[in-house]
Amino acid sequence: MDKISLQRIELMHPTLRVKLREDYTAANNVLGKGVRLRFSYTLRTFAEQDALFLKRPKVTNAKAGQSYHNYGAAFDIVLLYDKNGDGIFEEASWDTRRDGDRDGVSDWLEVTRVFEQRGWVNGFITNGKKWDLPHFTIKGAAHWRVLLNRYNAEKNSLIEGKYIKCIY
Ligand SMILES: [Zn+2]
Repeated sequence: MDKISLQRIELMHPTLRVKLREDYTAANNVLGKGVRLRFSYTLRTFAEQDALFLKRPKVTNAKAGQSYHNYGAAFDIVLLYDKNGDGIFEEASWDTRRDGDRDGVSDWLEVTRVFEQRGWVNGFITNGKKWDLPHFTIKGAAHWRVLLNRYNAEKNSLIEGKYIKCIY
C-alpha cells in the first residue's frame, strides 16, 4: 500500500472514499513484488485547476469546473517500481506495456482492468481514439456542465467547502 495514495483518496468526493479505498487495494493487490500503484492526482480544487490551466507550456485544456477532478470524481494513476529490491520505489512510470511482475500481462493493463470492472471509466475518447490513459472517472457521473451548474448553485453550502452534494 502507498501512504500518499491513501491520503489522496481522502480528498475524493465523500461518497467515493470508501469505495475507492477498496478499489485501490484490489488494484494494488494484482501487482507483484516490486510494483506499486500510486494516485498522482485525485481532487484538484477550482483554484488549482485555474493555476494549471494558465501553465505554459500547456498542460490542460480544462478550466476550473471542466474537469472531473474538480469534483473529486476522478483520479490519475502512475506505477512505482522498486528496481533493486531495497523496498524503495524509486521509479515512477507511465509505461503501459511494462510487465514488472513478469506475469505476462502489462502492469498498467492489469490495474486498468480492475478499475474498469469496479465502475471506473478509463481515459477519454475523441474521434474513436482513447487518450489520457492514467485518468479514471466514476461511471455514471453527470456531464461537467451539469456539475458546474450545481457547484455554482451550491456555492455557499458545499460539503466540506469543496464538494457538490451529488456527482450523478
Ligand atoms: Zn485525470
